[in-house]
Amino acid sequence: MKVRLLTYTPHPIKAVFTAARTCYSPSTPTEIWSADAPKERMHSLIDKVIGAGHQSVLEHISLTFSIEGISRSCSHQLVRHRIASFSQQSQRHVKVKEGEWVLPPSIETNHSAWEIFQSTLKGIQGSYMRLIEMGVHPEDARYLLPNATWTHLVMTMNLRELYTVCEIRLCTRAQWEIRGVFEAIKEELTKVEDLKGFATYLQPICFHLGYCPEPKSCGLLPVKGSPTIS
Ligand SMILES: Cc1cc2nc3c(=O)[nH]c(=O)nc-3n(C[C@H](O)[C@H](O)[C@H](O)COP(=O)(O)OP(=O)(O)OC[C@H]3O[C@@H](n4cnc5c(N)ncnc54)[C@H](O)[C@@H]3O)c2cc1C
Repeated sequence: MKVRLLTYTPHPIKAVFTAARTCYSPSTPTEIWSADAPKERMHSLIDKVIGAGHQSVLEHISLTFSIEGISRSCSHQLVRHRIASFSQQSQRHVKVKEGEWVLPPSIETNHSAWEIFQSTLKGIQGSYMRLIEMGVHPEDARYLLPNATWTHLVMTMNLRELYTVCEIRLCTRAQWEIRGVFEAIKEELTKVEDLKGFATYLQPICFHLGYCPEPKSCGLLPVKGSPTIS
C-alpha cells in the first residue's frame, strides 16, 4: 500500500484560526486573517476550541490523498465514509493483471494457507482472462474477481471527517488494512509543518473519551462502566 498527501488547503492553521476567532471576535474574518497572529497563539486557540468539542472549524481544511494498492475489501470499507469524495480506478475500463492482489499477513505467514490463496487466485485470474479472450467485456468478466484485488483511488476529506474516521479506523478493532491506511495518512500529515499540529488530533476514540466504548476492548484503556472510570 502507498499513501501520499497530494494537496491540501493553503494556510491551514490560519484558515482554522480565522474560523474559530470569528465566532468570538468583533473583528471581521478579513481583519483576523490580515492581522497575522503568531503560530503559537493560533494553535493555542485551536486546541481550546477542539478541546471544547467544537470540531466544526476543522471542516475548513480539505486534504486530498492518493491511496494505491489496497484491496477492494479495504476500499469498500473506506467508501462507507460518506463525507469524503472518492475517484477509484474502474474495473470496467482497466483490466486486472496477474499478481495485482493484496496478501493478508495472516495468510502470508501460514504456508498452507498461502498455497491455497495463491492457487485459487491464479485459477480465478486464468478464468477472468479466458472470458475476456472469448469477447466478454471486462465489466462483466470482473464479476469473477476476488476481494483481494488491488485498487487505486484519490480521496478528498475535510479534517473534521478525518478526525471522526480516525476515531474508529485507528482503533485496534478496525481491520489491519484500513487501520494501515489511516496510520499512513496520519504519518503524511506529520511530514508537513503546517499540518503536523493537527496530526496529534487523529487518535482512536478511547484517547478522546478517556475510556473504551467497545464491547470487546483491546485493554489499552479501561472500558466504559469500569470502576476506574468515575
Ligand atoms: C470495527 C468496524 C466494524 C464494522 N462492521 C460493519 C458491519 O458489520 N456492517 C456494516 O454495514 N458496516 C460495518 N462497519 C461500517 C460502519 O457501520 C459505518 O458504515 C462506517 O464506519 C462509516 O461510519 P459513519 O457512518 O459513522 O460515518 P461517515 O459516513 O464517515 O460520517 C461521519 C459522521 O457524519 C455523520 N453522518 C454521516 N452521514 C449521516 C447521515 N446520513 N445522517 C446523520 N448523520 C450522518 C455521523 O455523525 C457520522 O458518524 C464497521 C465499521 C467498523 C469501524
